[in-house]
Amino acid sequence: MQCESSQELKGLIDEAKIYTKDGQVAQYIPALRDADPDKLAVAVYYPDGSCYAAGDVRHKMSLQSISKVITLALALIDRGEDVVFDHVGKEPTGDPFNSIIKLETISPSKPLNPMINAGALAVTHMLIGNTVEERFERLLNFVRELAGNSTITYNEEIAKSEFETAELNRAFCYYLKQHNVINEDVEELIDLYTKQCAIEVNSVDLARIGCVFAMNGIDPVTDKQVIPASVVRICKTFMVTCGMYNASGEFAIDVGIPAKSGVSGGVMGAVPHKCGIGIYGASLDDKGNSVAGLKLLEMMSRKYDLSMF
Ligand code: GLN
Repeated sequence: MQCESSQELKGLIDEAKIYTKDGQVAQYIPALRDADPDKLAVAVYYPDGSCYAAGDVRHKMSLQSISKVITLALALIDRGEDVVFDHVGKEPTGDPFNSIIKLETISPSKPLNPMINAGALAVTHMLIGNTVEERFERLLNFVRELAGNSTITYNEEIAKSEFETAELNRAFCYYLKQHNVINEDVEELIDLYTKQCAIEVNSVDLARIGCVFAMNGIDPVTDKQVIPASVVRICKTFMVTCGMYNASGEFAIDVGIPAKSGVSGGVMGAVPHKCGIGIYGASLDDKGNSVAGLKLLEMMSRKYDLSMF
């Protein structure tokens, strides 16, 4: 993995770093509590395979909700649009990612979109394979392919820690099972989902995956179509409308980049036809988004004119 350090990005990191003080690292998954809130990293990956970075770029983070875009892509490849959208909707909620409230008020009772936890669980349910191990292995290999990094694996401690505490996610699953959105064993689905969320990457991996999405599914190094363009289009649209949960509208105005965040502090951006961006900053705002990471993206969007709007 080649990535040059950039003084310009370092300047932006230094500017954005003060905002880490405005947030807090995720508390509800015990294994994430000890993350260093001061760390901040950014990598930018271009379609010609060049990469520029600054900050703690080698620092590993678990994908958490960023994995939701990747499982959505895989489920769309595996099952096709009709089956996927039989199980999950296409509308933003305006509610937090772990809210249960709209599940009961909409009809038919299926999660509103694949970026909230209930929707992501319905999507993970659709991943093909005979066992949890087989389904997870396929997902992991897909992530490795997108990142061009065969060493990527998952953090067992984080997966276990979330598995042991994910009662709200279990509640979503039971609700979905009652309403025939899913029909598998809940413990197995939570096992697969928590492993998916615990897949570990660094900012460069994230930026490279973002670049594949930015280039409509074309791998920046091999030039291979690794995700069909029609699937990428759907994923990027969800990143715009729901990628930052109930901060997605504000983010579209302030930054204007298809992006997805996770509670580990990662943010993956896909600037259409331009580049992929990977950010790490564990200190989160009250909506679960990296507080300095979002500031950094806002600065980058202004400086490099990245907004698509
Ligand atoms: N694994 C986390 C959860 O299900 C992912 C949430 C997130 O990153 N927002 O709660």
